[in-house]
Amino acid sequence: MKDLVDETGRFGEEKDMEFSMGKTRSVKFAGEMEMIGLMLRGQEIEKAEVYEYLGVKMGVWEDYLQSHEDKVRSRTKKLAGMVKAAGKGILCRPEMMRMMWKGAAVPAITYGQEVLCMNKDLRGEMDKAQREVGLRALGGTQLTAQEGLEGEWGCSNFEVREARAKLGFEGRLRFMGTDRWAKKVYMYVGVQCRNTRWEKKVRKIGEWKGIENRTPGGTVEQWVSRERKEAEQRGLGDRIGKAQGKSSLKYYREGEFGGWSGIYDGTFGSDLLFRARVGALETRRRMRWLGGTTECGICGEGVEDLEHVMLKCEGLKEERQRLQWENMVEEEEVNIVRHRLGLGREDEKDRKWREDAMTYLKIWKKLGGGVT
Ligand SMILES: [Zn+2]
Repeated sequence: MKDLVDETGRFGEEKDMEFSMGKTRSVKFAGEMEMIGLMLRGQEIEKAEVYEYLGVKMGVWEDYLQSHEDKVRSRTKKLAGMVKAAGKGILCRPEMMRMMWKGAAVPAITYGQEVLCMNKDLRGEMDKAQREVGLRALGGTQLTAQEGLEGEWGCSNFEVREARAKLGFEGRLRFMGTDRWAKKVYMYVGVQCRNTRWEKKVRKIGEWKGIENRTPGGTVEQWVSRERKEAEQRGLGDRIGKAQGKSSLKYYREGEFGGWSGIYDGTFGSDLLFRARVGALETRRRMRWLGGTTECGICGEGVEDLEHVMLKCEGLKEERQRLQWENMVEEEEVNIVRHRLGLGREDEKDRKWREDAMTYLKIWKKLGGGVT
């Protein structure tokens, strides 16, 4: 170490370069021995317990990223709070909040995740923050199933984001020239069979993703984009699997999970539409845990669930006629609810269903539907 620092000093002298001693520190990451004072051009380098390099804080503790994680944790909270605050009263709230979150907040909190292996709890906190931002953006409540929110908002969870980043970086390492430092370290670790945290993590992600097609050839771009795509598909598969176990997603799960399709605009009708699509509309049946009656308060005939609201409520009959919603067909209830809520019809050109469904739900609410 001392030789390396001396070498650096000589290099600086030859090139007539100054060292900023105020920013230079020595940090002892490993080893039992007492650290000797390192000198650079006659000045002693100050010792430190933590040093921030390229925005990453590294410390002397057993978990060298501990203080960096604290930094990312508070940044996550701060940015989520900012996006939520910015969403108040702006036009096209869902889309704007989505842009701010995905475009600015997510890159800031996932910085360096190609190489850094952080605590799993931190990822959980990021998912939680993303959920809160998403619910605020789309006008959902805590009743909203996570899978429905992810699907409608078109945001991957942080497990998928990490997989995408790390597998992509691993691909780049494979194709990297041996003159690069990252490649040298990668090869050294591989040859020495050092089971670093990163190696273990990448292997685990690989097992999770599945699909082993390591045929050589192709370009680095092809490799990286294939890996990233496979990670995303695996994430989607997980989501669909989890959604299938949830009764609130009875209507939702039968459609394709198409991601963000720009159907929400942040109005009251749009909020109701979102909740209806993901099975979180506050019908009396849905809110029965509050202890109230489940009977429809508008027509008084039958249990008020989504199907009742969308197909059967006598109090909304005229409204359905006005919208030319065809009469109900027995055994086809689920499909008709889906049809009326536009599930699977996101790509239709005029999307008339959207306006119709929002109008209808607003009238339902106005007539005193659901739990208020
Ligand atoms: Zn009714």
